[in-house]
Amino acid sequence: MDRAQATAAAARDLVVERPQGLYCPPGDFYIDPWQPVERAVITHAHADHARRGHARYLASAEGEGVLRARMGADIELQALHWGEVVEHRGVCISLHPAGHVLGSAQVRLEHTGQVWVVSGDYWLSGHEAEANPTCTPFEPVRCDCFITESTFGLPIYRWQPQAALFAEINAWWADNAAAGRASVLMGYAFGKAQRLLAGVDAAIGPIVVHGAVEPLNAAYRAAGVALPPTHRVTELPKEALRRALVLAPPSVAGSPWLRRFGEASDAFASGWMALRGARRRRGVDRGFVLSDHADWPGLQRAIAATGAPRVIVTHGYEAVMVRWLQEQGCQAGAFRTEYGDEAIEAEASGMEEGTADGRDPGEAAR
Ligand SMILES: [Zn+2]
Ligand SMILES: [Zn+2]
Repeated sequence: MDRAQATAAAARDLVVERPQGLYCPPGDFYIDPWQPVERAVITHAHADHARRGHARYLASAEGEGVLRARMGADIELQALHWGEVVEHRGVCISLHPAGHVLGSAQVRLEHTGQVWVVSGDYWLSGHEAEANPTCTPFEPVRCDCFITESTFGLPIYRWQPQAALFAEINAWWADNAAAGRASVLMGYAFGKAQRLLAGVDAAIGPIVVHGAVEPLNAAYRAAGVALPPTHRVTELPKEALRRALVLAPPSVAGSPWLRRFGEASDAFASGWMALRGARRRRGVDRGFVLSDHADWPGLQRAIAATGAPRVIVTHGYEAVMVRWLQEQGCQAGAFRTEYGDEAIEAEASGMEEGTADGRDPGEAAR
């Protein structure tokens, strides 16, 4: 391609970088912008992708409840069903499941014969038959250009089958319950906590959830996701707490909230637990490798399934992914974004729910 051709091609790009976020020039709207804008298409309600202050929001109908719970009930929101098409300034926009958290969407844009897809965050693994049971599974969408996340875009990240992982979690809980110790399992309040709930064996004992987790459980249940019965800590007698699984956000670590459980075993569930030393740095007894993001084989499967000759890589290990894609004969590049789930998400679930110090907001009202 000579310079004039390259400029002409770039002028037709359906998504470009702007200081406010990823921007669609013909449609004059943004996707998951990090600064306030007039029109924002939101892939999902995690704090680094869905920010307050936009004039108009477009998001999936599946995620409407959870988005309103986090952004405010009064946001100006147009909700789309999966695959439903709206046209805006000649750009056809539709949303397709990403399998990451409740309501998580990929954004498909079609304009003058070109199709681009922005993935947001997505989950699938190298194990073909597996899906995240707490939301609609990832659906590959054919496109000319795929903008992919790469949070775990290194060959070292390979998730084990979910059944094997949950067998480990259940065995840890059952051992603790038999010894009269509570099992405190920390994970992010939105997405991870519900994944854990849906996967554990509720016959082992009662399940207690921290007040930061409960409103999100309610949104999931309202959307039709089956979760086992859960209790607030104040609802159970002390003896029952000694057999309980306690689901709480990471902000409770070292907080007074945990003291009521007495002697307890603690654990952390995150994709980062795959890294050597991560469990020790968290100072917990156990680390369980559970992620809401695609692992390395999952990213490769997802990208291949789009058939896209061009791929643009965002947040994560961009350089490694770009080099790998170029080796596969793909036209690959990267966008700089301000996404980066876990830190911002952790901070947000602390701030939004008033639990930065581990306090339980549900209890303050009692
Ligand atoms: Zn996310
Ligand atoms: Zn993300």
